[in-house]
Amino acid sequence: MSDLNKLTITQALSGLKNKEFTSEELTRACLDVIEDKDLTIKAFITVLHDSALEQAKQADKLISSREVEVFNDKPLLGIPYAAKDNFCTKGIETTAGSQVLKDFVPPYESTVTQRLKDAGAVLLGKTNMDAFAHGSSTEESDFFTTKNPWDYARVPGGSSGGSAAAVIADMCIFAIGSETGGSIRGPASWCGTTGLKPTYGRVSRYGVIAMASSTDSPGPLTKTATDAAHVLKVLAGKDPLDATTSPVNGENYPENLINVSLKGLKVGKPRSYFEIDLQEGVAEKVNGFLKFLENEGAEIINVDLLDPKYSIAVYTLLQRSEVSSNLARFDGIRYGNDRDSFGFEARKRMMLGAYALSAGYYDEYYAKAQKVRTLLVEDFDRVFNRVDILVGPTMPCVAMRMGESAENPMFGEMMDKLTEPSTIAGLTGVTVPVGFAEDLPVGAQIMGNRFRESLVLGIANAYQKATNFHERRPE
Ligand code: GLN
Repeated sequence: MSDLNKLTITQALSGLKNKEFTSEELTRACLDVIEDKDLTIKAFITVLHDSALEQAKQADKLISSREVEVFNDKPLLGIPYAAKDNFCTKGIETTAGSQVLKDFVPPYESTVTQRLKDAGAVLLGKTNMDAFAHGSSTEESDFFTTKNPWDYARVPGGSSGGSAAAVIADMCIFAIGSETGGSIRGPASWCGTTGLKPTYGRVSRYGVIAMASSTDSPGPLTKTATDAAHVLKVLAGKDPLDATTSPVNGENYPENLINVSLKGLKVGKPRSYFEIDLQEGVAEKVNGFLKFLENEGAEIINVDLLDPKYSIAVYTLLQRSEVSSNLARFDGIRYGNDRDSFGFEARKRMMLGAYALSAGYYDEYYAKAQKVRTLLVEDFDRVFNRVDILVGPTMPCVAMRMGESAENPMFGEMMDKLTEPSTIAGLTGVTVPVGFAEDLPVGAQIMGNRFRESLVLGIANAYQKATNFHERRPE
């Protein structure tokens, strides 16, 4: 079988179970594409060629020595994936895209990568990102910028840009990213993959280099919504090492996705998300997605949500404040390089955060931002009394050209203004490709209330069954 690297998780699992190919063959197929394409695309900071093959061989041994039931214990057995480089991996360099952590080899494993390891997944390597996840293009990576596989002159989005590029270039079967204010959905939208931002607290943050701890949410970037459910099933749940993880559980992914019915579904269309400056073609594609839902029996209801511009101010203040305290631990003494290694963006954010938190300014900035955050949360709660989900564009435009962000110091926030409100409120959301503008992918996001992952993924799955935008690949 050729092109094994192009398979989805669902297809790869079926092939492995039926012994049509081995995990070693599957892993080699991914490594070959990485070798072939990544010199140009630069999605990976670290490629784990030998250890990936070793893990794949172990998986093959398990598969051949035990019955197919082994997949019940290890639901991702033999599936090769890529992890964003802010997930601590024991014995494997973890840089968070920064010079500060260049050469840092963590002595412990993040819960996310541990769970994937326990589930039998094969780690191919660590992907590029904006340093400490500050940014929306990977141009803030201290090492290099990743290219968008659709057009090498454009950025893949960020901060999980390496993960998104790796998925759409079929260098892996799936990837892991993290979102604080758009960093999964944004790059997924610009690269044309599916990207799930889970509810805050659904997936453990333990061992993820912290950005803003009150919104950080790890999640999958995949080729389909069903695949996202496969990964979520492994990642979700209470973790004693992260006190903010929720015990809410009992979801039977991905099987429960098929039970989601679009008939009678109440779909909120937030006016303010369509009234901002959207690039030509974006609203049209997202409206096409809404039309699909309507044709399937859903009811589209116009709703008013607070203008997303308020969330930019709230996000900027809270995120900077949390950054200034989270990045204080990198003192250059216990581990990592010294503080002179911080890049310009991280310095700017720490300074602003320290200012917002300092005596005399705290009430005016940080405390006020927290109050408006509550208003944003209540705004969503109010709307979710009337509708089941909300649908809007994920990004205001298609992937931007490299260098274009340089003129705008608030580029990240402006690009992520449609995803920041829901991350601030801790909601879940998935982005799916819904068409193309200027030959580049356009994403629509389905936002759901807390713990409604099955619903948003089920809707995405229904759409992907009827369309093939998610199957398109760059030449
Ligand atoms: N663009 C936002 C920022 O720069 C989002 C980053 C993120 O979600 N990690 O802060």
